[in-house]
Amino acid sequence: MIITKQKPFEVIKECLRDNKKVFIAGCGECATLCKTGGPDEIAEMARMLREAGKEVTGGFVAIASCHVVGTKIEMKKLGEPVKEADAVIVLSCGAGVGSIAETYEEKNVIPGCDSLFLGNTVRVGSYDERCMTCGECILEETGGICPVTTCAKGLLNGPCGGMNNGKCEISPDIECAWVRIYRRLEKKGRLDRMEKIHEAKDYSKHTKPGVFEGEKYAKMRKRPEGGKR
Ligand code: SF4
Ligand code: SF4
Repeated sequence: MIITKQKPFEVIKECLRDNKKVFIAGCGECATLCKTGGPDEIAEMARMLREAGKEVTGGFVAIASCHVVGTKIEMKKLGEPVKEADAVIVLSCGAGVGSIAETYEEKNVIPGCDSLFLGNTVRVGSYDERCMTCGECILEETGGICPVTTCAKGLLNGPCGGMNNGKCEISPDIECAWVRIYRRLEKKGRLDRMEKIHEAKDYSKHTKPGVFEGEKYAKMRKRPEGGKR
């Protein structure tokens, strides 16, 4: 999921300096799980805004705010509370902010969170990054541990000279990704994979903005000339 962190309230308040009436939108997926944009966080944001002299016209948690059409339909159904607001604070990742900004182009749509990374939940409140969505996955060859993401240098062919006693040169608290990969492959009885030389990755597969359309849907979607937004 996308890991988010709420922005400091002072930053949000500054974004609202020209607005009095505010609506708050959250997200029922990642931001709820991260406890940055679920019902409790919306209630707390509403309380702080009222204390700061703002008029909160309402709040809601979208099923998944990154779903552009779904969120648009949900928000249009809310009627007056959204219509009368001159600003919308979005407590979700930037994708959710993008959906809502597209729905309400005339309003001040404010990101209430910073999006950090695509993360794994280790336990509630503790997340780490294990994939950087490079577009060309090699986990089958590295025992399910991503060197692109978990090696500080993104090395593809074994450890660098800075590795010390199994630790990464950037910190004695961090295990070297390639030592972890070696141990994992050893457990699997697949150390032969260590001998494979990986070519430099084709980073053109990770150009931005990313677009993917399954064949079934490609024809349904109209895009501006050039293909990307
Ligand atoms: S190689 Fe790493 S960054 Fe690329 S898709 Fe696989 S896990 Fe993600
Ligand atoms: S010590 Fe290991 S994890 Fe750290 S940069 Fe070198 S190869 Fe990567």
